[in-house]
Amino acid sequence: MESAPQHVAVIGAGMVGLATAWFLQERGVQVTVLDRTGVAAGASWGNAGWLTPGITTPLPEPAVLRYGLRAVLSPSSPVYVPPRADARLLRFLLGFTRHSTASKWRTAMQAYIPMNRRAFEAFDALAAGGIASMTHEAKSFIAAYRTEAERSVLLDELGHIHAAGQEIEFDVLSGAEAREVEPSLSDGIGAAIRLYGQRFINPGEYVHALADAVRARGASIVTGADVVDVRDEGARVRVVTSAGADDRYDAVVLATGTWLGELARRFGVRTVVQAGRGYSFSVAIEHVPSGPVYFPAQRVACTPLGDRLRVAGMMEFRRADAPLDRRRIMAIADAARPLLRGADLDARVDEWVGARPCTPDGLPLIGRTASPRVFAAGGHGMWGITLGPLTGKLLAEQITGGGQPEELTPFDPLR
Ligand SMILES: Cc1cc2nc3c(=O)[nH]c(=O)nc-3n(C[C@H](O)[C@H](O)[C@H](O)COP(=O)(O)OP(=O)(O)OC[C@H]3O[C@@H](n4cnc5c(N)ncnc54)[C@H](O)[C@@H]3O)c2cc1C
Repeated sequence: MESAPQHVAVIGAGMVGLATAWFLQERGVQVTVLDRTGVAAGASWGNAGWLTPGITTPLPEPAVLRYGLRAVLSPSSPVYVPPRADARLLRFLLGFTRHSTASKWRTAMQAYIPMNRRAFEAFDALAAGGIASMTHEAKSFIAAYRTEAERSVLLDELGHIHAAGQEIEFDVLSGAEAREVEPSLSDGIGAAIRLYGQRFINPGEYVHALADAVRARGASIVTGADVVDVRDEGARVRVVTSAGADDRYDAVVLATGTWLGELARRFGVRTVVQAGRGYSFSVAIEHVPSGPVYFPAQRVACTPLGDRLRVAGMMEFRRADAPLDRRRIMAIADAARPLLRGADLDARVDEWVGARPCTPDGLPLIGRTASPRVFAAGGHGMWGITLGPLTGKLLAEQITGGGQPEELTPFDPLR
């Protein structure tokens, strides 16, 4: 691209697309956001809302692989792989397996660390810019276990994270100590880890506030705009929707979450983006925790949302648009039941399924594609909320002619 673009279309109104839109506006760019459904219609709504750079790590790792194998054998396991995988899923699983080694994990972790270090800086920029939704300091962030033996898995992982150079402070607690900090834990909890320095948000509310801010600064957010074609015509990029809208922009950002491959493939992005579907719901609880509560052995993540508790979990490698499977909701509720005190797990509201955009190497795809006018921003897997704002900040720098920020080198969409 010869000069900095003046008008950019961002496709996808999730955390990543809207953060990119906001930071482009910060650099004087006019933005149009298009989403086929609406703001936060994808994974950015019902997720756990953890802003946890201290534990933001690549998904493929040796322990996950052991989990995956067990999952195939047990239907109530928190990881689900369909017995008959299609060709794309097989490609993903093969790549994922290849990357699930200790040395590949260490290399990928080195890509995450510089991002993790700056993740809050981007949230703070958004706060200073007047985003109406707050980030909350996690006064407590407890990972809780039935036994000390279960706890050793995360302790090992924290050791690896620390050895890789990621800062993370934590304490090891007994069950009773954990209940003192977090009375919502049941007597079934026998061991815990308390993490420090992390934050959380109400993700749906936050992403809507981000959309409001983007609109207030002059962007239009077009909903019901299903983009079916993106073409680089030389000087400009043409964007066509299924309803027949046909517009041209100086540049386009593809921020379509788990659907990224559909539009990005023709621009040389070959990495598979596979839906890793997760479920959530919220419940009333006698004592609302003062920060996230994590049950790693059950892979259940809880987050306080106002006067309720969101309970989230599952990793279901299925088609992104498949219907919600009630058995998964029940599996999460049943797993959480003996671990929480005073939670009404039978009166669930906001039952939700959403798809984490997972890549085989566990790294997001951020940056220029084979076209100098088309950029990818997605594939953050478990961490698109934590890293969405920084992704937008760095990508806006690159799009407006600042060159590729060093942090983005490992996330090159053409790798
Ligand atoms: C249960 C669960 C818990 C999670 N917990 C956390 C957490 O605690 N912390 C964290 O950091 N991350 C978490 N994640 C991951 C996080 O939710 C995702 O990484 C993140 O939301 C991805 O954001 P995105 O903007 O890339 O995609 P999305 O939010 O999925 O947005 C993509 C948008 O693109 C639109 N779109 C797609 N195709 C088209 C098209 N052709 N035309 C127009 N629009 C299109 C969709 O409608 C959608 O709105 C969790 C995920 C799940 C499922």
